[in-house]
Amino acid sequence: MSSPDTTQNTTEAPPSPERFDVEAVNRRDRQEPLYAPRKRIHPKRAEGGFRRFKWIVMMVTLCIYYLTPWLRWDRGEFAPDHAVLIDLYNRRFYFFFIEIWPQEFYYVAGLLVMAGIGLFLVTSSVGRAWCGYTCPQTVWVDLFLVVERAIEGDRNRRIKLDGEPWSAGKIFKKIVKHGTWLAIALATGGAWIFYFANAPTLAVDVLTGEAAGIAYSTIAVLTFTTYSLGGLMREQVCTYMCPWPRIQGAMLDEHSLTVTYNDWRGEPRSRHQKKRDAEGTPHGDCIDCNACVAVCHMGIDIRDGQQLECITCALCIDACDGVMKKVGRETGLISYATLYDYNQNMARAQSTDGAIDPSRVRDTSGRLLDTIKRTNWRSILRFRTLLYFCFWAAIGLGMLTVLLTRDRLELNVLHDRNPVFVTLSDGSYRNGYTIKVLNMMPEPRQIRLTIQGLPRAVMTLPEEKDHPQRVILLDVDPDRIHTQKIFVRSESEDLKEPKTKFRFLIQDNAGSERDDYNAVFESGVDG
Ligand code: SF4
Ligand code: SF4
Repeated sequence: MSSPDTTQNTTEAPPSPERFDVEAVNRRDRQEPLYAPRKRIHPKRAEGGFRRFKWIVMMVTLCIYYLTPWLRWDRGEFAPDHAVLIDLYNRRFYFFFIEIWPQEFYYVAGLLVMAGIGLFLVTSSVGRAWCGYTCPQTVWVDLFLVVERAIEGDRNRRIKLDGEPWSAGKIFKKIVKHGTWLAIALATGGAWIFYFANAPTLAVDVLTGEAAGIAYSTIAVLTFTTYSLGGLMREQVCTYMCPWPRIQGAMLDEHSLTVTYNDWRGEPRSRHQKKRDAEGTPHGDCIDCNACVAVCHMGIDIRDGQQLECITCALCIDACDGVMKKVGRETGLISYATLYDYNQNMARAQSTDGAIDPSRVRDTSGRLLDTIKRTNWRSILRFRTLLYFCFWAAIGLGMLTVLLTRDRLELNVLHDRNPVFVTLSDGSYRNGYTIKVLNMMPEPRQIRLTIQGLPRAVMTLPEEKDHPQRVILLDVDPDRIHTQKIFVRSESEDLKEPKTKFRFLIQDNAGSERDDYNAVFESGVDG
């Protein structure tokens, strides 16, 4: 690492970084009224490690969203082969090897609880990383900005274009840009409906006008929201519409990593550092180039401190690190830092009158002191975050265990209420029941139905009343509920009271899965 000197006694002048004529949308020293007109933001493209990481996250999340409905997963001939499918008609949710039935909706509730705890975990560790990297709003705004830059150029050219009078060239560029945005929005809405049906078939139906009206209206609504939220409203959604910035404040603590301007080494900022050096006036590392403001999609100035608008995307870190390298100083003037470390460094930098004195954090050669607190990713590992992680992992493991060991056979029984029982001519009693056997496997099964607790009782089917049986075999279709009416007949001598408890049992004839149901046999015997 170079050894910069705050007094700048260097013989070779470093290249001068570009200065940006940009003003934050909501400066600390000039807060806008609540209903101030919107200031148009023209973010400059950032370069650096965080930007590259964001490109990767953007590509991965977009690929997941657009390609998942086309993935196949073999579940045998009796079940759909989509890897992920929300089957509203049959009320099923398929996710690779997992199939969820409506009565198992608690798994979805469990997933939502995991998502909630996951957000607590991430926010308490690295602030609004969700907002800055993976939130759909952030991802689509990034994508729309790629299109905007490709057609209209980077920040300066876009500002120039917006300021020009309308011409054929300008109209053409705007039409191409908005047309491309609309195409992306259309693809986004189109991809969403593929999660609910067979994607290749539905794609053909949509293109040939054969799809259901709900498919077209869903595409229309999502096209409109994607285009307007991602293309037109952009940062306004995060600042004014999303509740998350308000909630996150309660989740951060002084050990959470957040994007921070280290004013203990940056102030007093100066655009004329050489002049200050010549005068012997102390100055910090910030050369007031505004690169950090120019790249910010939210249009804010991180040097004004933590703000509700900051989505922790870290692009200002990339921008400032680039500037620091150009002027030959240590990177990290803007960095991920905890409030605890920041306060310690600030206390070291402040002189007795409270003013920041940059020389207090540097040694005689101009290097930052070794005792200065630097970004420490190990601050993520602390009691609070480990507790969140343990909760999160325990719920996940519990759900996975239940999922992998759950029975795929279920029995439900409804007792006939009218009449509750019938007295037969030989003095025996008969009760009617509706048996519902739920086969949650994607293959047909033969199920043995028996009774337990009524020793000599027999069962008959409505169509075979003269054929009493102790065991009934039911052929159940794959992934279906099989409903069967049956009658149970018992001799009066076997009944000691008007209501006798017994059990229906079902067992997979070819496997080990079974289920039972506690039922009541009613009769006219005196208790
Ligand atoms: S201030 Fe920095 S981290 Fe915050 S939104 Fe702007 S560029 Fe992203
Ligand atoms: S913090 Fe960095 S990028 Fe921002 S104005 Fe200062 S030197 Fe430039």
